[in-house]
Amino acid sequence: MLLAPYLTEENAEGLLAAATHKTKAEIEVLLAQRFPRPDMFTGIRAIEPPVLAGQLSPGIVEAAAAGSPEAAPAEPPAQRPRVAPLAPRRFSLQLTICQQLHDKLRYAQELLSHQIPPGDIPAVFERALDSLIRQLEKRKIAATQKPRASHGHKRAAGRYVPAEIKRAVWRRDQGRCTFVSEDGRRCQARKFLEFDHIDEVARGGTASVERMRLRCRAHNQYGAERTFGAGFMQQKREQSRRAAACTRGTSQRSHPMAQEPRIPCRRGA
Ligand SMILES: [Zn+2]
Repeated sequence: MLLAPYLTEENAEGLLAAATHKTKAEIEVLLAQRFPRPDMFTGIRAIEPPVLAGQLSPGIVEAAAAGSPEAAPAEPPAQRPRVAPLAPRRFSLQLTICQQLHDKLRYAQELLSHQIPPGDIPAVFERALDSLIRQLEKRKIAATQKPRASHGHKRAAGRYVPAEIKRAVWRRDQGRCTFVSEDGRRCQARKFLEFDHIDEVARGGTASVERMRLRCRAHNQYGAERTFGAGFMQQKREQSRRAAACTRGTSQRSHPMAQEPRIPCRRGA
């Protein structure tokens, strides 16, 4: 389906061979490299309410007239956000946003009006993401421009993982799960990463750069289940979920990573 619009008698064989065994996303990249498309229209447009068959929405007419087929809101507004490769190192981003997000974007544009020209929405997103990434890294891996001296505490007791150890482990494992399967393939996960004690804390393991690693949540749980048994871990997760529901909103600063499953708390206790 993706290749069809590009197939000719001359390129069919080569293109099909290049696309064989590739995922949809990989084929999109391949097409963007071989058939680069121009940049998309950048802008914000109000979406008309859905129209009945036979009627044509003025919004669609306007977008079609803008000359970019991708810009036309041909799909219903509930469509999922989409990032697609257009050309080498160029991507399109299309999303439908609510009034609140629209107003935030406009406000950010106003605050940045001395630095970013009004039409440059990608620059606003980049600033916003830079700032978000800094904030999340700080919370997650204690990233900082000025790391404090370690005072010689190279090891720490219990589940507490000092910031310097988190930073070193994250850097060494390159922000990726370290699980390696029996056939030697490393897990690709970069999401839901957790700091895992190689020696279980419950059995005396302590936090040190050498004895800690990054694991995705699934592989961390898999490891724990192998050590403690699936039934026991299920019970712990249940406890942890209840505790989280109980304390939600009261401990914004602590991150679920590297935390011991809490004992269920009772409201009002
Ligand atoms: Zn993993």
